[in-house]
Amino acid sequence: MLFRHLPRQTLGFFPTPIVELPRLSESLGGPRILMKRDDQTGLALGGNKTRKLEFLIADALHQNCDCVITAGAAQSNHCRQTAAAAAMVGLDCHLVLGGTPPEQANGNLLLDELLGAQIHWTGADRKGEQIGAIAAQLRAQGKYPYVIPYGGSNALGAIGFVAAMVELQQQLREMDQSLDVIVFASSSGGTQAGLTVGKALMEMAVELIGIQIDKTEDRQSSYPEQLAELASSTLQTLEESECQFQPADFQVETAYLGAGYSIVGELELSAVTLVAQTEGILLDPVYTGRAMGGLLDLIRQGRFQPQQTILFWHTGGQPALFKFVL
Ligand SMILES: *Cc1c(COP(=O)(O)O)cnc(C)c1O
Repeated sequence: MLFRHLPRQTLGFFPTPIVELPRLSESLGGPRILMKRDDQTGLALGGNKTRKLEFLIADALHQNCDCVITAGAAQSNHCRQTAAAAAMVGLDCHLVLGGTPPEQANGNLLLDELLGAQIHWTGADRKGEQIGAIAAQLRAQGKYPYVIPYGGSNALGAIGFVAAMVELQQQLREMDQSLDVIVFASSSGGTQAGLTVGKALMEMAVELIGIQIDKTEDRQSSYPEQLAELASSTLQTLEESECQFQPADFQVETAYLGAGYSIVGELELSAVTLVAQTEGILLDPVYTGRAMGGLLDLIRQGRFQPQQTILFWHTGGQPALFKFVL
């Protein structure tokens, strides 16, 4: 297989299930909807970062590092899964979190503490702006940190989602099922870049639609430009070809950013509520609630044909439900 030459540490339960959401489809009078349950990866309440961490943590062990360091928002699902993965393989974990310490930790932050992570608070910086400085401090103390970027979204992390696409294709074959569209929450880009590389390598016809969760205007380049760069370097890491991706290869819906990252509005609330009450499935308020809100809006706009089959990739995040009160 494509990534067989790379070290990989088992951290979760794969393949994750695919379920059908008939009552949600019916309530919309809309297309058939399937869901890929990456909220069930099993790593300390699961989520999509488990896939990236299988390659990143293996690399940390391969390089004989003694700790990992990564970054995110105070309610980062990526940081929680990294803390769990580190505990599982016996590495120390340093988390560089945006904000200031709350009086009482809840949601993902409570779990970070329970999992033994050491937390460094960095105020307005929630995307790892200070990782380099804190890693340097750790080195000065004689530690050997392995740096995992914000969201785990470098080429090695994205390979986790190339592997996910191979996994999906195998499941679809077994189910004798084809897909027209895959919809998912897209934020730091590893998920969308990895799925796109997997789709290209396996020559799949499916359309990929990323629902953008977080603005990227603070960076030098547009989000599709960042995705193209990440996908190209992912392909290079796989030693597959010199092929380059273009920004136009990435479909990103930017209409659902609402009042900003992690600000829960009517779109998210109604999507989380509808899926809970029609299917008994929990979405999260920040990522999958927003992405499902976007999908519901696209369906209501008539973007898809009734006979099409759509797969919503549930990327996890439910611990944040306990932070954001309905
Ligand atoms: C990180 C995350 C995403 C986005 O994945 P990226 O690879 O960062 O684009 C989506 N959903 C949840 C729940 C996440 O934690």
